[in-house]
Amino acid sequence: MGSSFSELAELCRSLEATSSRNAKVRLLSEYLRRLSPGDAKIATYLLLGLPPDVRGRRPLSVGWSTISEALNQRPTSTLVQEPLTLQDLWSSLRAIASMEGSGSRARRVAVLQSIFQRCSRDELEWVLRILSGEMRHGVNHGLMLEAVAFMTGADPEFVRRVDMLVNDIGELVRLAVAGELRGVELRLFQPVRPMLAEMCDRVEDAITIHGGVTSLEPKYDGVRVQIHLEGQRVRIYTRRLTDITERVPDVVEIVRGAVSAGSAVLDGEVVAVDETGRAMPFQETMRRVGRERDVLEAVRRLPLKLWIFDALYIDGEVLIDKPYEERRRRLESIVKQDILAPRLVVRDPATAEEFLKRVLEQGHEGVVAKDLRSIYTPGRRGAKWLKLKPADRLDVVIVAAEWGHGRRKGWLSNYHLAVLDEETGSFAVVGKTFKGLTDEEFQQMTERLLSIKTGETEWGVTVRPEIVVEVAYNEIQKSPHYESGLALRFARIVRIRSDKGPLEVDTLQRLRTLYQRQFEKKGRPIDDVDPA
Ligand code: AMP
Repeated sequence: MGSSFSELAELCRSLEATSSRNAKVRLLSEYLRRLSPGDAKIATYLLLGLPPDVRGRRPLSVGWSTISEALNQRPTSTLVQEPLTLQDLWSSLRAIASMEGSGSRARRVAVLQSIFQRCSRDELEWVLRILSGEMRHGVNHGLMLEAVAFMTGADPEFVRRVDMLVNDIGELVRLAVAGELRGVELRLFQPVRPMLAEMCDRVEDAITIHGGVTSLEPKYDGVRVQIHLEGQRVRIYTRRLTDITERVPDVVEIVRGAVSAGSAVLDGEVVAVDETGRAMPFQETMRRVGRERDVLEAVRRLPLKLWIFDALYIDGEVLIDKPYEERRRRLESIVKQDILAPRLVVRDPATAEEFLKRVLEQGHEGVVAKDLRSIYTPGRRGAKWLKLKPADRLDVVIVAAEWGHGRRKGWLSNYHLAVLDEETGSFAVVGKTFKGLTDEEFQQMTERLLSIKTGETEWGVTVRPEIVVEVAYNEIQKSPHYESGLALRFARIVRIRSDKGPLEVDTLQRLRTLYQRQFEKKGRPIDDVDPA
């Protein structure tokens, strides 16, 4: 028999009870190393509150009303039940995730009931948290990687590298417990987690951080693509590693005609353009890339322009551990100029400012500054890539929504926006907005929000933190209302970031820095104290 769920619930309680990062790492590692590799994989997903279709990121789609119906009907059986195992719970969640069509709600309720029936009070609490996706015990992806490093004695950098290649945290833990981390390498047609950029507000800072010289590229306002090719075979993956090859035949054709290597893994961005070649707004690119039907018609109306900026693998050689400068050189030798992202290596802030200005005039979002010495690392770490955008923008996740009034009656139209508190792993509300969406978008948003509802209040609903939006704001203020201590003034949605997951939103820690930085340009309120 596999490991019991009660042990996991006990671990969760201990994790919640300590605020020490080191203690959490030890607890996790001691727990995981006792499990079979298969159970360790499941435990990892459950601990992170991830839905069963982890790669496809399909939400669990079980709303609060389904859960409460199952809870209310929970029979008070006196029969001795078999203890719930990790595998039982996981296969039930998978079953729920795959239920569709008529009668699926009743079937979901039945499966939930059978889980709840086998839970003690304490276990039930943690099952409910797993269902809501918010564990609140302070374990996030990064901490899990630390636990893997601690458990295996491996270098944390090495673990991060493997994580980028495997791109499935459960699978990574399974490999770690099975002692198989060393065998992992980048392989063609197995997409890896992309490198991301950290925010930076000034070009001169970027130059300093990168050691006195940096490489600037336009920041394209499009959709990230990872291209794997071998001969005529081409596959294209998104930032979340969904295979979108069938939806972008135009990009496949461009790649075939513009890349001279026998095999390669390339990193870039696609942007929808109009007939004159001008970039279309981001939402159009998202729509084009998301389109699965009548693809050829869409290709004709809204072709995609491809920009390549990195190479991870060329003709059998893995390049991710080579410095960016070398990767770029290798890239230039295998792709045609017209798909290569232009760049400018700069030392001097004035030249950098000029480049930024030019790029903005061309309609791009800003620039990305890249450290010439940096190896390719997953996610947003170490400030090796820095994005510089002019306006004040933040990525936030919607955690609740209020019913609208008047013209917006019947729609969930006022959204509670949250950033990620990196210290606790939970989401901290920093503002609300009902601005920025079209009527059609309000309607669609209402449907989406209701499908991820976790609770009802007199004003609206609370939801699973899943929908990421980019907001513009005028100022960050101190707030006595929000626990975070900060609030965004005049927040408005500039776009829905369906390409991002909730763990990719901006952090409370960054917001605190931005709050302080505001006073470089203006006076500080008299009673101001650091909200951190
Ligand atoms: P953000 O989406 O604001 O977090 O910024 C990071 C994203 O910028 C990446 O995921 C890329 O999709 C995008 N991006 C646009 N242009 C570039 C570029 N030249 N280099 C790297 N990333 C880029």
